[in-house]
Parts: sequence; structure tokens; C-alpha cells
Amino acid sequence: MRMTVIGTGYVGAVHAACMADIGHQVLGVDSDTRRIASLSAGRSPVREAGLDELLAKNLASGRLRFSTSLAEAASFARTHIMCAGTPRRPDSDFADLRYVDMAVDGLARHLRPGSLVVGRSTVPVGTAARIGRHLAAVTRGAEVAWNPEFLRQGSAVEDTMRPERIVVGVTSAHAETVLRAVYAPMLRAGVPFFSTDPATAELVKVAANSFLATKISFINAMAEVCDAAGADVAVLARAVGADSRIGATYLEPGLGFGGSSFPRDFRAFAARAEELGAGEAVAFLHEVDRINTRQRRRTVTLARRLAGGSFAGRRIAVLGASFKPGSDDVRDSPALAVAAAVRQQGATVRVHDPRALDNARAALPDLGYAHDVTTACENADLVLHLTPWPEYRAIEPGALAAVVRTPLLLDARNSLDARRWRAAGWSLHALGRPIGG
Ligand code: NAD
Repeated sequence: MRMTVIGTGYVGAVHAACMADIGHQVLGVDSDTRRIASLSAGRSPVREAGLDELLAKNLASGRLRFSTSLAEAASFARTHIMCAGTPRRPDSDFADLRYVDMAVDGLARHLRPGSLVVGRSTVPVGTAARIGRHLAAVTRGAEVAWNPEFLRQGSAVEDTMRPERIVVGVTSAHAETVLRAVYAPMLRAGVPFFSTDPATAELVKVAANSFLATKISFINAMAEVCDAAGADVAVLARAVGADSRIGATYLEPGLGFGGSSFPRDFRAFAARAEELGAGEAVAFLHEVDRINTRQRRRTVTLARRLAGGSFAGRRIAVLGASFKPGSDDVRDSPALAVAAAVRQQGATVRVHDPRALDNARAALPDLGYAHDVTTACENADLVLHLTPWPEYRAIEPGALAAVVRTPLLLDARNSLDARRWRAAGWSLHALGRPIGG
């Protein structure tokens, strides 16, 4: 099958490479000429396991090409998968749809009859309907469908090749048939396929994100109660999560969520719900947001207490800068927010991250940085574990105890083996857990 992928950023580059790999003829299109030049040379704009290999293989096979021309896109295929970005508007929480609209406009004037524009971007509910009306007015019979993207950064190729579900919002049997053909290998492998109207498809994406955010903030709220009651949130989370109706994932107490899209998407959802007159229904999302950002302040407060009541003159080692493990992205990273606050309150801070050091240094040049954990922790008065990279679980606590000034650790992700660290002489602390508990 022939298709284009329009917008070859994080989502589009992965999607184009994966679609070519399952056998489609794919033209990736982007308005960014440098991005297209580098993708054409097999260089991905993002680091994702397996992506470079997929690009190389499918460029070589001829199934994957890249271009900057929307006219070429319209003549290449009748199926167009739209992956343009939807950043936050500078003046509000609403999504900025100008990139999606520009791509649709640019494509529409060349579209052949019977073409299908498939939106994959995360958009406010109602966007597909609006684009559909536009296409009906300016094309001969082109239609729109929505097919939200659920990939997670760090496992983007795996999530695209083996998704947990495929959701399509369509207004015709033809569109559903086309989308079933796009994902035929996944459907043969038994991936659940939900075909619905475009508004429901748009909402599935933001509802799923909002639920996950709520789960994270729920357990962090419980951590605050545990602190007040002298109880242990780590045990509570495991025991609550053992209930199969609840489940243990995303029930990990700690520093909370961040990143470029997760908080932005659910704030945009709340703004859109308010616009639709359903603001009261999602008012709890504002509380979810407040609980989440409060964990950063609570982490700084606990760190300051552990540092003796003041950061002045203290050396603090920070383990982790990216917003989550597996990613080099530091946008709205809880770890960097804490590191910056600690530095701002007078500490000397040295940050380690397995992958995000360059991005962290670009974002916060005033912090100190180290390429290995030992250097970051040399003579530290306190170590903060802020991003739960697997590398940090593999640290030998005894060896690290020998390089710090004081073996004092705040595990803000509740993911290190407390017993092992304590056996090696460390004093280990966490939010929502009794001191030394
Ligand atoms: P991105 O910023 O990495 O990429 C967007 C791309 O679109 C850029 O390469 C840009 O040059 C291109 N573009 C913009 N205007 C264009 C136009 N008129 N014509 C052609 N190309 C154009 O964004 P992303 O992270 O890939 O996200 C894309 C969408 O997917 C967003 O709506 C996002 O919310 C959603 N999403 C992202 C993720 C993620 O983890 N990154 C996950 C799920 C959903």
C-alpha cells in the first residue's frame, strides 16, 4: 500500500520507518528541509531503539523516501498520515493547531478524489470534524479520519510495531477499510482494533493520558498522607496495586510526571472541556496537576532538611536529568526542576544522566555536570536520585559510599533497593516513608 507520513518529527519519523518496514511504500514529508535531508541520509531526528536500523533498511529497500513537497505527497498516495506537532499556544493551555492546519491546507489543494487524511496528532476534540468540513469545501471527495498515537518515548518503535490497541475515528466504511489495510499485520497479530467516530477517537487519547496522570497524582497524594501519619507509601502502593482492578503500573510514588507532551496534553484537554461547557466534569484535573508540581517542592524541602536545614555550602549530587528513563528529553523534567531549585538555594550541584547531559547543559548551563556517577558524587553531602534509570539500580552502594562525604541518599523515585543501600552504610530517605523506613 502507498501512503505518506506528513510531519516527520518524533511520531512521524518512527511511524514512517515502521510503516515501510511492514511492507508499505512510504513517502515521509516535512516542511523542515534539514530534517528531510538528514532523514534521507538515514539520520533520525530522535534516538529510539531500533529506529536507525529501520531507517537504513527501508531506505535501502526503496520502500521509504523523504520529501519536502506536499504536491508530491498528493500524487504519491491517496492515504496521508498527518503527524504535525501541536505545541501549547504561548498565551494559554490550548493546543496550537497552526502546524496541523498548514499541513492540511498545503495538501488539500493537490489532493486527488477519494483521498483520506488520517490525523495522528493529539488535538482538541472537534478538530477532525472541522478539518473534515474544510476538506469537503476545498477538495473533490477527500475525507478525514483520526487515529491517535499512543507511543511512549523510549519504546517508540516497539509501541508502533506492537501497539496495545489501534483506535480509528472514521466517518465512512471506506476510511475504516483503508485503515484496516494500513495496520493489517498488527490486526493479524491480534491487536485490538476500535473503530468509532472521530470525536471519540480524539478523546480516547486525552482520556487515557488524564487517567494515567490521575493515577500518579493519586499515589503521590497518598504519600503526603503517609508522611502526615508516619505510614509507608511504598508498601501501601504495592498492596493497593496488587488488586487486579487497580494494577501496580503508574502507581509508583515519587517526584511525579513531566515531559513535553503529557502535562501539556491534559492541560489542553481541560481547557477544551471548559470551552465545551464540561469544565466542571474535569475540574479534578487541575488538582491532579497541583499535586504533581507539589512533589517537586516537597522533594526540595525534604532534601533541604536532610542537608541540615540549608543548602548553603552543601555539595549535592543529582542522579538523573531527563524527564523519564530511556529518554534524553529534559523539557519540563521534574529532576531538572529540583536540581535547579537546590542550586538556586545555595548548593553546589553536580548532575549525572546516562543520556540527557547535553540537553540538560543547554537548558541549565549554571549547574555542574559529570559523565559518570562516581564523579558526580565525589565529596557529596547528599545524593538525590531523581530519574529512575536502570543504571542507578545497578550502582554498587558500597563503592559509592567511599567517594561521598556523607552516605546520605534521597530516593525521590522509590526505586532503589533500600535494604542493599542501608547494608552498605547509607542513610536512605524518600517522600511518604518514615525516616529511615
Ligand atoms: P515534533 O515537533 O517532533 O514533530 C512535528 C513535525 O511536524 C516537525 O518535524 C515539523 O517540521 C513538522 N511540520 C510542522 N508543520 C508542518 C507542515 N506544515 N508540513 C509538514 N510538516 C510540518 O512533534 P511530535 O512529538 O512528533 O508530535 C506530533 C504529534 O503527535 C503531536 O500532536 C503530539 O502531541 C503527538 N504525540 C506525540 C508523542 C511523543 O511522544 N512525541 C506521543 C503521542 C502523540
